[in-house]
Amino acid sequence: MTYVVTDACIKCKYTDCVEVCPVDCFYEGDNMLVINPSECIDCGVCEPECPAEAIIPDTEPGLEKWLELNTKYSAEWPNLTTKKDAPADADEFKDVEDKFEKFFSPEPGEGD
Ligand code: SF4
Ligand code: SF4
Repeated sequence: MTYVVTDACIKCKYTDCVEVCPVDCFYEGDNMLVINPSECIDCGVCEPECPAEAIIPDTEPGLEKWLELNTKYSAEWPNLTTKKDAPADADEFKDVEDKFEKFFSPEPGEGD
């Protein structure tokens, strides 16, 4: 089991989650983060830290798509271990639906 980041993170990227992860298993894309499922120790401390409620345990139904996406992109994107400023318009995108279809970018972020 692992936790995964869903598309609620896209264009919000508050990064509160990376500060609390004891094993630094978040990876940064252009406009969202993902978790490396093989590094995540399933502690759950990141879940309540996310203002966008984007982090969900993969025991919940229907998360195969996000598990696949987290697995794929955590192998390609750089590691992010310290909080950085959220995009200036992050709050505007917090409750937008279907953000994957509308805004997903496969490009890597900067990491740290
Ligand atoms: S706290 Fe939530 S919205 Fe922010 S980067 Fe982490 S998963 Fe994405
Ligand atoms: S559940 Fe724990 S180990 Fe997994 S990503 Fe969240 S904080 Fe990191």
